Amino acid sequence: MHFNHYGGTGAELAVRMVNAPVVSDDLLRAHELRVGGLSQAQCRTLTEWAGRLRPVFTEPELDTVVKLVNELLADSASKPYISQHDGRPPHLHYASEHDDAVARVLAFTAAGLANLVCEAPQRLGHCGRSGCDVVYVGTSRNGRRRFCSTRCANRTRVSEHRGRRRAEG
Ligand SMILES: [Zn+2]
Ligand SMILES: [Zn+2]
Repeated sequence: MHFNHYGGTGAELAVRMVNAPVVSDDLLRAHELRVGGLSQAQCRTLTEWAGRLRPVFTEPELDTVVKLVNELLADSASKPYISQHDGRPPHLHYASEHDDAVARVLAFTAAGLANLVCEAPQRLGHCGRSGCDVVYVGTSRNGRRRFCSTRCANRTRVSEHRGRRRAEG
C-alpha cells in the first residue's frame, strides 16, 4: 500500500516505531516494507533507532530537528533510487531490496522524516496531555493538532477546567 500523505510511508513507519514499546517483527511485517523474520538483536537495534526518532517529533526548535534528521540520514546511509515496480508510477525507494532489513528500515524512516521536515515540519507532533507519549504526523487541513486522540483532548480539557474552577475558588 502506498499512502499519499506528508512524509509518506517512511514517516508513517517512524510514527509506529516510536509509539511501540519495542519494535517487533510483527510491527514491520504489517508494513509495506517486505521485511520479516528479524532476530531479537535486530529488533533491539531498531528499538534503539526508534529512541533516536522520538526527539524529531518532540523537539520544539526547527534548527535542532534539522540537525537530528541530518544525523539520522548520515547514519542510515540512504541510497535513493526511483522504482516503477508492479506498474506503479515512479516513486523513490531509499534502500535496495538486497540490503539487510535493518539497513532498509533505517534508510526508509530517516528519509521519510527528512521529506516531512522539508515539506511540512509543523505536522510533526506529540500529544499535549502530560503522561501521554504518543507522537504523530498531523493531517488536518491547518496542520495544527494538540493531542493524539479525542480521549486525551477531553481528559486535558476536563482537568484544565477543574484547575480553573479551583483557582477561582
Ligand atoms: Zn514502492
Ligand atoms: Zn495522548
